[in-house]
Amino acid sequence: MISIIIPIYNEAETLPMLYDRLISVIPFCGDRCEIIFVDDGSSDASMEIMKRFIAKSSDIRVVKLSRNFGHQAAISAGLKHAAGDAVAIMDGDLQDPPEELPRFLQKWREGYDVVYAVRTERKEGSLKRLAYGGFYRFLGLVSDIQIPLDAGDFCVMDRRVVQVLNEELPERVRFVRGLRSYAGFKQTGLKYERHQRAAGEVKYTFRKLVKLALDGIFGFTLLPLKMATYAGVFIALSSFLLGMLYLTARIFNFSVFGTSAQDVPGFTTLAVGVFFLGGIVLVFMGILGEYIGRIYIEVKKRPLYIVDEVIKNSDSRD
Ligand code: UDP
Ligand code: MG
Repeated sequence: MISIIIPIYNEAETLPMLYDRLISVIPFCGDRCEIIFVDDGSSDASMEIMKRFIAKSSDIRVVKLSRNFGHQAAISAGLKHAAGDAVAIMDGDLQDPPEELPRFLQKWREGYDVVYAVRTERKEGSLKRLAYGGFYRFLGLVSDIQIPLDAGDFCVMDRRVVQVLNEELPERVRFVRGLRSYAGFKQTGLKYERHQRAAGEVKYTFRKLVKLALDGIFGFTLLPLKMATYAGVFIALSSFLLGMLYLTARIFNFSVFGTSAQDVPGFTTLAVGVFFLGGIVLVFMGILGEYIGRIYIEVKKRPLYIVDEVIKNSDSRD
């Protein structure tokens, strides 16, 4: 069996279209398919629409979260509820075309454990495209593991990778595409054209996007912490050299940067030094804060999401 996980947050406008396209592609998927919609606390008509789908098919179910927990948590909830030998993840706004599924599943049948989608083209504003491109390249540069460029959550995964994500990687702060890379096994990327959102507004607010980016970076590298050490060593070394210079100037009585030791002590040097060091210290305190905040979240061990109810067709077997 194949499970298809779709996180839904106020997607009433796209759901009917999504349903039609999914239903027409399922015959080409080669196996029985279950569709798991994860309702991430929608407040529009999404739930009613999904209930109509459930009435029509015993292979559709909705995992209703108790409130909005965010995209990554919704995906994680879907992964826990998926029973398929292969599990697909896709967005609910048709940016990830369901028609690509058979091609992805084909690769899975060839023996790949993870088939992830690589975006060739984004139908979004140039600023957003630039930000995405820059983010993935930066993450690739600094992360401890190899995370493929321009690959989002759209993918097909084998049961054993899903098992790893569900059971071996219990962390709260979830950057699913990074965890997926971390899991390893035989992975491959397939190129696809990312379409425009079929209808409705973007549900990822700027704040949520920034959070996702920070989770990706701070979750997969310690480099920002190590930067404090490098910068500290560099500044200490330069200060030592400068100190030596001032000392020799005092002894042999020549002037440095236009001031000799006889003049009024250099205000500029002091001021620049204080501000510069103050800035550096604040930046690194911020970085410490980011990591400590994440440690705090992890030790609290709060659930990633809370399921309100699982809604399924009365003919459904399990
Ligand atoms: N989504 C969600 N919870 C959220 C935000 C988004 O489940 O808090 C879902 C949304 O319904 C959609 C997918 O995540 O199916 C991607 O969201 P969106 O298209 O708004 O973001 P994009 O990645 O296209 O910027
Ligand atoms: Mg989208």
